[in-house]
Amino acid sequence: MKSDKIDIRTLDLEQLQVHMDQYGWPKFRAKQVYHWLWKKHVRTFSEMNNLPAAILSGLENDFEILPISVKDEQISNDGTIKSAFETADKRVVEGVLIPTEKRMTACISSQIGCSLSCSFCATGKLKLMRNLKASEIVDQVVEINNQAMSNYNKSLSNIVLMGMGEPLLNYREVMKGVEMITSEDGMGMSPKRITLSTAGISKMIRKMGDDESRVNLALSLHAANDKKRSEIMPINDQNNLKELAEALNYYYSKTKQVVTFEYIIFKDFNDSLEDARELARFCKKVPSKVNIIEYNSTDDELFAKSPEERVDAFVDFLAKQKIVAKVRRSRGKDIDAACGQLANKNKAVLK
Ligand code: SAH
Repeated sequence: MKSDKIDIRTLDLEQLQVHMDQYGWPKFRAKQVYHWLWKKHVRTFSEMNNLPAAILSGLENDFEILPISVKDEQISNDGTIKSAFETADKRVVEGVLIPTEKRMTACISSQIGCSLSCSFCATGKLKLMRNLKASEIVDQVVEINNQAMSNYNKSLSNIVLMGMGEPLLNYREVMKGVEMITSEDGMGMSPKRITLSTAGISKMIRKMGDDESRVNLALSLHAANDKKRSEIMPINDQNNLKELAEALNYYYSKTKQVVTFEYIIFKDFNDSLEDARELARFCKKVPSKVNIIEYNSTDDELFAKSPEERVDAFVDFLAKQKIVAKVRRSRGKDIDAACGQLANKNKAVLK
């Protein structure tokens, strides 16, 4: 049965204050509730122990808290932890903790499934079920931060929105989530430590500029030629390279932030020196740097990993062209936790 209570975390502080007002409770109570929800991340109203019983029972009558919970955890040989989170409506979404010497990074999802069907990505083979709510985006961070503390005794240093889904197609909730992660009334984390990765929705990249977004932006490029890019990323038909370059330059003019191009290097598809030349040419159009990403297998034969010599030659070529490019090795491959492998494959979770 569907509850007629309101998910309290869909309300902002002002709306909570209006609610308190309507019931004749002092306004400062709204701020207290807000802190319990977004700073202390309680899961029940009864934990809000500085509020009078009358307010608590009033809140319980009208509202509910709908947290996500960890349903399953898998630990990789390299220490990466992949979690299957269950939402209140019993859907599953994945997130990953990536521990390194210097960083504790949470890779979180923005949607349940994805609508984009990029041919190299496991998530692209799922349908889009629904957008995640801001509260569910924050909950992933809270849960992964708990894992970082309990397994490594360190708190999260970085967050990447590189899990399931396309964050710019869930713009409002993603940005609200980012606000709750960064604001002083929330988790107080610096936006410089957050990276949003997009398949490239030019209209929304412009909107990030207009909104003076302060998170880092990464764009999944993977080919610097429209024919090839459209072949593997259908979204390129509506957001081609010219439009993306224009949107990114607009974004740069507003934010002064350099975009990172992500480039999965596929054997015999985009790993030739001609491909590198095209990439270099494209990079010169936009203030940018490049992360070369090795391909992680998604159980189909369409693509393969480019051999090391090819990758080295590709990167050398870029360096000679004065393009800043780094090779990124993926983590957590043994448990399908690496980039592009999130597909709710764990049968125990799916039942
Ligand atoms: N929708 C967003 C965020 C999710 S993907 C985006 O497209 O950017 C996060 C990163 O993983 C992207 O750079 C994506 O291209 C990359 N990725 C997807 N499938 C991959 C695979 N099989 N191997 C390596 N990286 C992959």
